Amino acid sequence: MNRFKTFYNISEVSYTKLNAIVHYFLMTDEISSIIALLKNRYLLFFVGRMSKLLFAFDYKDLFVVKYVDKTIKIHKEFLEVSSGVSLLELGNYTIKNGISGFEKIMTIPGNVGGSIINNASFLKQGINDNLLYLQVIDSMGNIKTIKKENMNISYRNVNFKEKNLFIYRAFFKINRNLRYQLYQNKKFAFSYRLSHQSSKLSFGSTFKNYKQFKAYELINKYINFRMQNGVNISIKHANFLEFSSNEDYINIVKIIERVQEVLYNKLGFYLESEIKIIY
Ligand SMILES: Cc1cc2nc3c(=O)[nH]c(=O)nc-3n(C[C@H](O)[C@H](O)[C@H](O)COP(=O)(O)OP(=O)(O)OC[C@H]3O[C@@H](n4cnc5c(N)ncnc54)[C@H](O)[C@@H]3O)c2cc1C
Repeated sequence: MNRFKTFYNISEVSYTKLNAIVHYFLMTDEISSIIALLKNRYLLFFVGRMSKLLFAFDYKDLFVVKYVDKTIKIHKEFLEVSSGVSLLELGNYTIKNGISGFEKIMTIPGNVGGSIINNASFLKQGINDNLLYLQVIDSMGNIKTIKKENMNISYRNVNFKEKNLFIYRAFFKINRNLRYQLYQNKKFAFSYRLSHQSSKLSFGSTFKNYKQFKAYELINKYINFRMQNGVNISIKHANFLEFSSNEDYINIVKIIERVQEVLYNKLGFYLESEIKIIY
């Protein structure tokens, strides 16, 4: 399936539903289409669910590609998962098959590819914990294998030596656990999220935490405003910005920058944004 659009409003498929028009958009489950575009030297921007991506423009000459293949296969010793699978789908599938390692992170609203890039984790369970290797496509359209030990994995970030790689498939070690226990873990993760985090529309955590302090503590202590037009700093968790899907991206960018500026003036450093902002 190839769904190709021009002058496409990304709000139709993004998690936040915020308006932004891109020149070209392709939604596909055919890897051959992506390879053909790369071999023809198109510069592509790959997205997952866009839960951590803020398009801060009305229109941009960007070619956005969303891979939606849903393959999950259990082999004898490893699990093969397409980057277009959501963490929720992966969690449900692995619980059913008695495989552990995904039952807490399934509460994160992202896909496998974007979650690997962001090194997503929740309640001490990380998407990259059981990762063995990745199959990627480089900017020339060649399929390559990258072992976990050759990836530079850090807090909310993964760096590859080569730039602009598309994660095509991920291969994970299989650890088994009782299904009953996995359901319990899932239930706990969902209820923990519900009680500690805002259930309104957001990008999740706005700023990265640091070893010495949590971003929400600094915001609670030093920020004396709570709102920028329709965007609110969450009362439940101050590192979450709440907004509605018809919000103007400018107001989200403004409040992020205002918080950074106030904290810089008070503390002398910028809080790094966890949201990837594309200007
Ligand atoms: C309400 C909420 C709660 C959240 N809670 C958590 C949490 O508890 N823990 C946590 O770690 N994160 C959390 N997040 C953040 C976010 O969900 C994760 O970072 C997420 O898994 C990103 O996946 P995505 O598919 O949305 O990626 P996107 O936002 O679409 O993309 C993220 C980055 O990855 C790149 N990318 C995407 N797919 C590919 C691919 N196949 N190949 C190469 N590059 C790719 C994009 O270009 C972009 O740079 C939360 C977000 C929200 C909105």
